[in-house]
Amino acid sequence: ASTLEIRELRCNVEEKEILKGVNLTVRQGEVHAIMGPNGSGKSTLAYTLMGHPRYEVTGGEVLLDGENILELPPDERAKRGLFLAFQYPQEVPGVSVANFLRTAVNSLRGEEPAGPAGSGKNLASLAALQKEIEGALEQLRWDPSFTRRYLNEGFSGGEKKKGEMLQMAVLKPKFAIMDETDSGLDIDALKDVARVFNSLRGPQLGAIVITHYQRILKYIEPDFVHIMVDGRIVRSGGRELAEEVEAKGYDWIKAQVG
Ligand code: ADP
Ligand code: MG
Ligand code: MG
Repeated sequence: ASTLEIRELRCNVEEKEILKGVNLTVRQGEVHAIMGPNGSGKSTLAYTLMGHPRYEVTGGEVLLDGENILELPPDERAKRGLFLAFQYPQEVPGVSVANFLRTAVNSLRGEEPAGPAGSGKNLASLAALQKEIEGALEQLRWDPSFTRRYLNEGFSGGEKKKGEMLQMAVLKPKFAIMDETDSGLDIDALKDVARVFNSLRGPQLGAIVITHYQRILKYIEPDFVHIMVDGRIVRSGGRELAEEVEAKGYDWIKAQVG
């Protein structure tokens, strides 16, 4: 199994230190929740892991099976098996879900993009990929017409999030980082998204589920829960830690941390 090891990670945003030494180890097969008050640096951690240029790493390492991925550009991190589901999925006008998935999978696998019709090799890989997408859709109990719609254009919040789960199903990341996957979802959409995530759960998937509220963790049950306050993980435990936060809020932890 692969291991993602975050060691003493420090990061600045516009000259201000936001991450102040984050330590976290995630193995394939484990689901870790990171909770914390607003502004504690949860999204900053997600973007830093994926290599967003606005986030300036000032110290520490992120080791994927011993390799420091902080030295790699975002696309190379994705090729190593990292996946980020965004807090606010962007609309991509004029690109169908199916096309987007094809492009993403081809670039991850280092295959040439689909060429002109009639080139045998491309047709074969295109057909294989189409099958794979259809298989994922079936598993997710989605209508294939979903993939002919334009990516995120006119999608409801729930559909966007399900689209992210479809990406995960097709891209098969080793480690998925999900930031506020539940934001803006009604309870039915949240259950749908959780069902899709849970169908992808297994020994091949490690996940970091970032959330402010405990709500999603009723449906996506984490193996470990971590609390981030002021750019550090200050508590780690099991699911009971999420329940404690739900009951008592974050102030008691902030007070303990000082
Ligand atoms: P969380 O996701 O836990 O709510 P964030 O990582 O979004 O926290 O933010 C942590 C801190 O970093 C906040 O003080 C926020 O104002 C600041 N911050 C985050 N992103 C940016 C940005 N792009 N530009 C300026 N400040 C930012
Ligand atoms: Mg926030
Ligand atoms: Mg956030």
